[in-house]
Amino acid sequence: MKDLYDVVVIGGGAAGLSGAIALARARRSVLVIDAGHPRNAPAGHVHNYLGREGSPPGEVLAAGRADLEGYGGEVATGTVDRAEAVDGGFRLRVADGRALGARRLLVATGLVDELPDVPGLAQRWGRDVLHCPYCHGYEVRDQAIGVLATGPMTVHQALLFRQLSTDVIVFRHNGPDLSPDEREQLAARGVPVVEDEVVGLEVTDDRLTGVRLRSGDVVPRQALVVAPRFMARADVLVHLGLELEPREVNGHVIGAVVPAEPTGATAVPGVWVAGNVADMNAQVISSAAAGLFVGAQINADLVAEDTRTAVVTYRNSAGEGLVTNAPAATRLGGQPARVITENSAPNGSSTVAIRP
Ligand SMILES: Cc1cc2nc3c(=O)[nH]c(=O)nc-3n(C[C@H](O)[C@H](O)[C@H](O)COP(=O)(O)OP(=O)(O)OC[C@H]3O[C@@H](n4cnc5c(N)ncnc54)[C@H](O)[C@@H]3O)c2cc1C
Repeated sequence: MKDLYDVVVIGGGAAGLSGAIALARARRSVLVIDAGHPRNAPAGHVHNYLGREGSPPGEVLAAGRADLEGYGGEVATGTVDRAEAVDGGFRLRVADGRALGARRLLVATGLVDELPDVPGLAQRWGRDVLHCPYCHGYEVRDQAIGVLATGPMTVHQALLFRQLSTDVIVFRHNGPDLSPDEREQLAARGVPVVEDEVVGLEVTDDRLTGVRLRSGDVVPRQALVVAPRFMARADVLVHLGLELEPREVNGHVIGAVVPAEPTGATAVPGVWVAGNVADMNAQVISSAAAGLFVGAQINADLVAEDTRTAVVTYRNSAGEGLVTNAPAATRLGGQPARVITENSAPNGSSTVAIRP
C-alpha cells in the first residue's frame, strides 16, 4: 500500500471492483479497500449475471480482484472509518490504524438490508427468506410461498412471485391496509390474504417449513418474501458532510441512498458513488456497469486536472518570451530574433519561444 493514489475505491463489491478495473486500465494508480461483506454474501449463487450464471458470489468477486491485479490495481482488506478533504484531495484512515491519501474517492460501500423484526427471520435471509424475484425467484418456482406485509411493496411482490408459483399467500402481519383494488387484484390472481400477525418461523432440517401466527396456527410455507428497508452504507460519506436522501413509496420510507449526479459525482467535489450506495435497485450486473461508468468519469476528471496543471507548467517553462502563432519579427518590433524551441499543442496550434 502506497501513501498516495490517484483513486481510492472504498468497497470491493461489483461496483467498486469494476470501477477500479476501468481506472487501472486507464493507467491510474488505484487501491480498493474492502471490508469483505458484500450484500449478497448470504446467498449461495449469483443469478442474472451474464456469463457467470449461478456462480457463488465470492467466486465472482475473486475473479474481479484477479482481473484488477492483472492491470496493476491493488486490493487491501479493511474498513475505512474516516475520510477528510485535504488540499485538493483526501486523507483516509483504515480501522486498523493505516492512513493514506487519494486525489479522488469512489465510494461503493453498498447498502444494508434492514429486515422485519420477526424471530428467526434474519437467520434464514438469502436462503428461504427472500426479497427479489429476479435474484432467487426461479429457485423457488412452484413452491409454497408467503409474502410478509410490512410496507407498500406487498402487492407488487405478491404479484411478481405469483408469476413463479400458483401457491402464494399474503400475510397482512403489521403492513398497511390493503385497498379494495389491491384485494381484488390478489383475489383475481388466486392469492389469499391471512390477516393475523406472524410471530415466528418453523424450520425443519435447516429448511423453512412454515410460518407461525399469533393465533398459534402454523401455515406451511417453503419460502417467505419480505421487503427490507434498503439503507445506504455511507458512514464515511456522512463524515465528509453528505446526507442520505430517503426514498418513499406511497408515503412510506423504503430506504435511503446517497444523492448523486447521473455521472456518480456527489455534492462533495472529488467524491463519487456507484452501485447500491446510490441506487437501491441496482443488481450485481448493473452495479458493475455503474462502477465502470463512474470510473470513466473519474478518469476524465483527473485528465482535465492533469491537463490544467500541464498547461500552467508549460506556460511557465516557456517564460515571457512565449508567442503563439505570431511572426517573431512582428512581435519583437522588427528586432532580430532567434527561435529556440517549437512545439505543437494538442489543439493543433503551434508555439515558438524566441529570444532576441
Ligand atoms: C440475499 C441477496 C441475494 C442477492 N442475489 C442477487 C443475484 O442473484 N443477482 C443479482 O444481480 N443481485 C443479487 N443481489 C443484489 C446484489 O447483492 C447487489 O446488487 C450487489 O451486491 C451490489 O453491489 P455493490 O458493489 O454496490 O455492493 P456490495 O456488493 O454490497 O459491496 C460493497 C462492499 O463494500 C464493503 N464496505 C462497506 N463499507 C466499507 C468501508 N467503510 N470500508 C471498506 N469496505 C466497505 C462491504 O464490505 C462490501 O464488500 C442479492 C442481494 C441479496 C440481499
